[in-house]
Amino acid sequence: MSPEEIAKELKEILIEASPLIEDYTRITCALCEHVCCKQRHAIPEEKDLIYMKLAGIPEYSLDNRGPEEPCQFLGPAGCMKPRWQRPLRCTWYFCERLLKTMDEGDQRKARRLIEIIKEIVELSRRLILETDSPGP
Ligand code: SF4
Ligand code: SF4
Repeated sequence: MSPEEIAKELKEILIEASPLIEDYTRITCALCEHVCCKQRHAIPEEKDLIYMKLAGIPEYSLDNRGPEEPCQFLGPAGCMKPRWQRPLRCTWYFCERLLKTMDEGDQRKARRLIEIIKEIVELSRRLILETDSPGP
């Protein structure tokens, strides 16, 4: 698969993951007193930059708030960015409370989400590999 095709698949699976994850975050994060969305998480890593470029997501600039301050994209109702445009870590991070909510809910749904997260991790790994590998 070419890097472009991997990025396209990654975008599609992030879009698919979003409502599944939001079923949990809607319950758990709304009551959270220590929201994990810090500015440091908005800083894109190499894999984010590669994915964003290939998926046609415009680069964003970071404002100059401290790394432990609330993320610049955090709004009153949660993240203001569509999931497929966020750094990947924002999707695959699950705190203990979120995992507990998954544990207590529908197990079929939880298993599907775990599969999706694994696919996202694998696609991002392949994206780096394919982009780093020298051409023929
Ligand atoms: S993921 Fe966990 S730590 Fe982050 S806002 Fe939700 S409940 Fe809070
Ligand atoms: S989910 Fe959104 S608000 Fe939270 S750290 Fe990521 S980009 Fe920022």
